[in-house]
Amino acid sequence: MQPIQILIVEDEQLVADDLRETLEYLGYIVCDLVASGEEALVKAEKLQPDLVLMDIRLEGEMDGIEASFEIQSRFNLPVVYLTANADRATLDRAKASQPFGYILKPFDERILGTTIEIALSRHQAELEVKKALTTAKTDQQIAESQSQKTSQNLYTAVHEFRNPLTTIKLSAEMLKAYGDQMSEQRKQNHINRIESATDTLTTILENVLTLGKSESEKLDFKPKPLDLVDFCEEIVESLQLTVKDNYQISFLVDGNSRVACLDEQLLWHLLNNLLANAVKYSPIGSQVSLRLIWEENTLCFQVTDYGIGIPAESQSQLFEPFHRASNVGNIPGTGLGLAIVKRCTELHEGKIYLDSAVNKGTTFTVRLPWKVDTVKV
Ligand code: ATP
Ligand code: MG
Repeated sequence: MQPIQILIVEDEQLVADDLRETLEYLGYIVCDLVASGEEALVKAEKLQPDLVLMDIRLEGEMDGIEASFEIQSRFNLPVVYLTANADRATLDRAKASQPFGYILKPFDERILGTTIEIALSRHQAELEVKKALTTAKTDQQIAESQSQKTSQNLYTAVHEFRNPLTTIKLSAEMLKAYGDQMSEQRKQNHINRIESATDTLTTILENVLTLGKSESEKLDFKPKPLDLVDFCEEIVESLQLTVKDNYQISFLVDGNSRVACLDEQLLWHLLNNLLANAVKYSPIGSQVSLRLIWEENTLCFQVTDYGIGIPAESQSQLFEPFHRASNVGNIPGTGLGLAIVKRCTELHEGKIYLDSAVNKGTTFTVRLPWKVDTVKV
């Protein structure tokens, strides 16, 4: 333990010398000895002693009680008075300054030692209480702001349910009221609308649930050896089937490896969301590509499109849930996909980068460490 440092404020040289000697005998270090309240403030700030022993009547304008007020409030240091002034008025003023002890001169060595020890431990206890209160306050503020954010997010998600639900309700009502007079083609159109609105609802629900799991740390990370070439080919093929001839989706591989240790489920969410965005934010007829690049210790996935791009001012926020760029117009979306992509990347201890220009296109690059030692080919 560090020796305790004490600052003596005493204007009578003889008493001061006696005090220094006694304190040193008791095992304390006297870091300085000053004779006025003004000097005491300067030294307390500069030396930050563990305790100040303060006479009340001092040289200069400021007496010991005024100096003590300043020292305790400005530097949060404990002050013990050591004085010959025991009259009622002085005692009342001294009490109001909430000192950590009050010793009358001539002092007794044992009382001096005990008072200092009690003052130090009371000060330490007060510091701990203050610290605990500050932490509790910060925790409460964090909890409040998180709960506000959660309600806001929930509200946004619920809001996103309204459009597909309205579509389902309208088409169902039309079928009910006019179904027997409608052509087969019109009936089919309404059924298709209901199906596609239901798909949208399912996707939003799944995304909200996935993100909820990731935020409460319940999203499992179970890496296992995966043939990434097969895996990517399957994802691209199934997306190509969904978008039919409207988009051309290509898959390219740089490097000769095939297997890496990754979490299949998370990687599926990651690539699917990036590819779905690439298609959704590009004009019909355009190209989208997924590139898998094997580097020495890193695996790189790149999804490129030639679509609407992302304005620079929106780019930094897109990985936060429910954030969408200013140029989405009426392209539907909840703003959850990239938050999920980010979480999946982080669970793999990877990083995600974005390179985009408005009306030119976008490339998302995900770099994941490639755990060579755990790969069993
Ligand atoms: P969701 O994926 O939840 O259905 P979303 O596509 O709006 O909805 P994210 O995938 O999180 O949400 O994307 C957030 C925003 O980032 C999008 O709303 C869009 O503004 C922008 N964005 C993402 N990918 C692209 C892209 N390839 N091209 C242009 N903008 C994109
Ligand atoms: Mg998306």
